[in-house]
Amino acid sequence: MRGPYRKRMILQPPHIKSFKPSGVPQRALQTIILQVDEYEAIRLADYLGLEHQQAADQMQISRPTFTRLIERARNKVASALVEGKALIIEGGNVDFIQPLSRCKDCGETFPQNQRSERCPDCGSENIEDLTQQYLPNRPGRGGHGHGRRGR
Ligand SMILES: [Zn+2]
Repeated sequence: MRGPYRKRMILQPPHIKSFKPSGVPQRALQTIILQVDEYEAIRLADYLGLEHQQAADQMQISRPTFTRLIERARNKVASALVEGKALIIEGGNVDFIQPLSRCKDCGETFPQNQRSERCPDCGSENIEDLTQQYLPNRPGRGGHGHGRRGR
């Protein structure tokens, strides 16, 4: 037996968390949750064109695991396109190699390992931690949970 289930390594948090089809009323809108590791599989294999073995190495998972991951990811994205569902990127057992922050004023994203907590573009201190919105157990979020859980 292998030890505890290892985290899948993701280079950076995605810049966009959700995608919505146009022309679908909010009430009728259905949602698919694409896990961050599924997003990363698509980015590596389909966007960058890496071989499955290379992509698996980068995420620190086995090649068969990667192949299952990319198949599930493609199926979800295809369902969103064909069935007109919203796609939300969230969750998964992941860790980020390059955590990013985003300036809430100008939208600039930048690596967190900077000494200053200011936006390098506009100097604003209104900064959010991009990794937090993708991690399952984000701290300090009381109140009503987000009810929408896809399958
Ligand atoms: Zn800024």
